[in-house]
Amino acid sequence: MKEFKAESKRLMELMINSIYTNKEIFLREIISNASDAIDKLHYKSLTDKKMNIKKDDFNIIVKIDKDARTLTISDNGIGMTKDELETNLGTIAKSGSFDFKEQNKKKENIDIIGQFGVGFYSSFMVSSKVEVISKAFGSDEANSWSSTGIEGYTIKKANKENYGTDIILTIKDDEEYNRYLDNYEIKGLIKKYSDYITYPIKMEVVDGKKKKLETINSLVPLWKRNKKDISDEEYDTFYSDKFFDYEKPLRHIHTKAEGMLEYNSLIYIPSHASFDYYSKEYEKGLQLYSNGVLIMEKCADLIPDYFSFVKGVVDSPDLSLNISREMLQQNRVLKTISNNIEKHIKNELIDMQKDNRDDYLKFWDAFGLQIKAGIYNSYGMDKEKLQDLLMFYSSKEDKLVTLKEYIENNKDEKDIYYACGSSIDQIKTLPQVEAMISKDKDILLCSNYLDEFVFKAMTKYEEKDFKNVCSDNVDLDSEEEKEELKTLNEKAKDLLELMKDEIDVKEVKFTSKLKNHPVCLSTVGEISVEMEKTINAMPTNESINAQKILEINSHHPIAQKLQDLYDKDKDELKKYSKVLYAQARLIEGLPIDNPTEITDLVCEMLVK
Ligand code: ADP
Repeated sequence: MKEFKAESKRLMELMINSIYTNKEIFLREIISNASDAIDKLHYKSLTDKKMNIKKDDFNIIVKIDKDARTLTISDNGIGMTKDELETNLGTIAKSGSFDFKEQNKKKENIDIIGQFGVGFYSSFMVSSKVEVISKAFGSDEANSWSSTGIEGYTIKKANKENYGTDIILTIKDDEEYNRYLDNYEIKGLIKKYSDYITYPIKMEVVDGKKKKLETINSLVPLWKRNKKDISDEEYDTFYSDKFFDYEKPLRHIHTKAEGMLEYNSLIYIPSHASFDYYSKEYEKGLQLYSNGVLIMEKCADLIPDYFSFVKGVVDSPDLSLNISREMLQQNRVLKTISNNIEKHIKNELIDMQKDNRDDYLKFWDAFGLQIKAGIYNSYGMDKEKLQDLLMFYSSKEDKLVTLKEYIENNKDEKDIYYACGSSIDQIKTLPQVEAMISKDKDILLCSNYLDEFVFKAMTKYEEKDFKNVCSDNVDLDSEEEKEELKTLNEKAKDLLELMKDEIDVKEVKFTSKLKNHPVCLSTVGEISVEMEKTINAMPTNESINAQKILEINSHHPIAQKLQDLYDKDKDELKKYSKVLYAQARLIEGLPIDNPTEITDLVCEMLVK
């Protein structure tokens, strides 16, 4: 028996005690080695015409022997000589690992597997014994390398008819590992990780009494095929098979990049949010392949958070198979691909918005919140990218419109008007909104808690400000009306002051903007009523108060009544103040701090 080199020993130790939870990837590693070995012979045969080997001759065969507890992976690739068995499997072949070890002697705990991929040694995660029988192409001698673990390995002469390599894994005798002796499971793993290896991967199936070989992998992945040869149905089936979605996607984006950077990508926009999409459990990411071999199930770095709903695959020969997560983040190839993908998604969505509004509305319904969050979370930094995807409900159009459409429909307005509340219907009943609508103004009715925060983050859209019609800063009156109102308020100064002292507002004033309703609440400053509600509903201890103004309709009979009370019965006026303020809060959907007092007051007035 020979000992492993120190580095190999350490790697094996890690494998056997398996700090690596994802054990099933051993099969991917072995099949990928087999495919590499075939690649080498294939290349040789292409350059040496005398060899007379056709591409069709190549294959990888996977066999299960339940009784012997073995899983065998055979290839007819280039094979290994005795020396090669020794150097390739007795030490860590990858020079990268060596260098890495040298540089990181101090950092003992660094995850070597994560850094460099796992390779051949990963088979020890699931095997109690690994035997490699190999015959190098052109040699007439075969050898067997075998090992049961850290102690070492033995090499001896063996019988093998054809060139190539058989990897015979004796699967650990423990319940947990039985799945690696199950035909169905192994088939699933081949499909999952090695579907698009370009040589056929075959498994033995029993057909009646006869055994025959069935090819498991699809050989050429859909994303590598020509767009024009793929039907919509094929795209859809691939989507549902791969991403387990029973509903058809809204769109697919199939890209083939050549030249400086080579990659294929196939991205789907789903038609609905998965049940966990808006939960913490949801993991964004695209499947990442390096030349047909899956290297990562969900590569998060490929898509920004605001497009986290897309599904898809990216395949690039410019990415190495064993690249680790940490290294991916700094990978330039990946950065470029991800920038391109982002642009494609954005363009596709804008196209959809123009060509198929129904589909876009479906998209918006499912993922609009994510787009809004994208603007808000970046404090407006991503606004240029995302603002044209936004949709809001226009009071005039009675449907969702884009901001561009709002501006086109309201060319003469210098601002973009909006109002917030819990539902479109509720917002429509707000006194200020009703009054604005009666003046034929178009208002974006915002029923989502994020809407106003999005506007604040954007500050402007195409040079236009966002104006909350329930805030004090909306000014629609003529100069004459303004003057009249100013005089009225000045005259009633003492009355209004007395009312203000009774309630918790910054100001009480008469207004001419309301149509039929007696009162409304408006705000001054950055915080609106809706923002106050949203922030106070958050699970922090912070509470915030919008600066409120109680506005009283100067055309309403209540205005005169208040004047009368001021002259005759100030105590009664105080009660009126409380009731009117409570009314204004109710309309805004704000709680009332003193409900018993208010209801008693109302009743007292009723029986009078
Ligand atoms: P890597 O494949 O990353 O180089 P591995 O530890 O998986 O590292 O494999 C070590 C080496 O063993 C390979 O580089 C290759 O030379 C050789 N090898 C592994 N499997 C086979 C095979 N099926 N046929 C021929 N050579 C192989």
